[in-house]
Amino acid sequence: MSNEIHHVAIIGTGPAGLTAAIYAARAGLNPVIYAGLQHGGQLTTTTDIENFPGFENGISGPKLMADMTAQAERVGTKVLYEQITKVDFSSSPLKLWSDDKEILAHSVVIATGATAKTLGIENEDVLMGKGVSTCATCDGFFYKNKKVAVVGGGDSAMEEATYLAKLCSEVYLIHRRDHFRASKIMLERAQKTENIKFLVPYSTTELLHDKTGLTGIKIVNLETDQTETIELDGFFMAIGHQPNSQIFEPYVDLDDHGYIIARNHTETKTPGVFVAGDIADPVFKQAITAAGMGCQAAIQATKYLENNNL
Ligand code: NAP
Repeated sequence: MSNEIHHVAIIGTGPAGLTAAIYAARAGLNPVIYAGLQHGGQLTTTTDIENFPGFENGISGPKLMADMTAQAERVGTKVLYEQITKVDFSSSPLKLWSDDKEILAHSVVIATGATAKTLGIENEDVLMGKGVSTCATCDGFFYKNKKVAVVGGGDSAMEEATYLAKLCSEVYLIHRRDHFRASKIMLERAQKTENIKFLVPYSTTELLHDKTGLTGIKIVNLETDQTETIELDGFFMAIGHQPNSQIFEPYVDLDDHGYIIARNHTETKTPGVFVAGDIADPVFKQAITAAGMGCQAAIQATKYLENNNL
């Protein structure tokens, strides 16, 4: 067990955590950041990122995260490739555990993100970024004037389909039931959009591909059991996200979907515990908004430490 008490421990190395680290390091706080199971977060599963400002010709997700990590290290962050599995924020200093190792910190930034749910069908991992995606705002541009499908029946699916309909020639909206969770207004907007074709009740059973990527899908009509093949350039799964908030539950407020509720920008109900990025953002879920929130969390953590002489 280490006796060192960190000024700030950051959990999660996506854009939110790494930006928090850069700001905390430059404030002289010698932050420590824990990478968890997916160093770099969701961006490491994308290919080109064309909407992160500063990169005229875009940048690959893994490269952006590698550069952000190097930048955080250069200004004085200690990056540890360990996973925080347990926390106890009931007293100060705050306690965290990486396996059996106890870590003490005066402040914590939770930036553990959310994981996009996927269907779990064969090859979806291999084809991610090669025709398969979980984010229309991120990847829609690559399918300009092409044929795509969106799976899901909630607001995310309606939003993604409506967004893609403005870029793509044809959008199939595939849902497993003829009832939708989506709000009436968003459902109707999608239904009224000319180039969105609803396919219900259908389930996707197979991703068809060649060497370059996705070429189509097989779907099955759940009423008739009939199988159909659709040629496609893009396949978007919009079946919800799972925020990685479970271990923090007693010390933060969660909304109905498990997202941490931030108050006064990035504060949680526990003094010294701040939150940033997708874990607290069911709405925007963008790298740039996560980075912005990481900056806010670091500045608020710095003020907290100053105000409490820590
Ligand atoms: P959601 O409401 O949980 O909907 C998920 C959809 O995916 C459901 O229709 C579900 O089908 C389907 N689904 C789940 N697992 C599936 C599987 N294995 N195979 C096929 N289909 C599957 O998630 P969401 O749409 O991401 O929305 C989450 C929250 O964010 C909601 O509160 C929503 O209102 C909010 N949101 C708001 C906005 C906005 O206001 N602009 C935009 C996006 C999201 P079943 O219905 O059959 O279970």
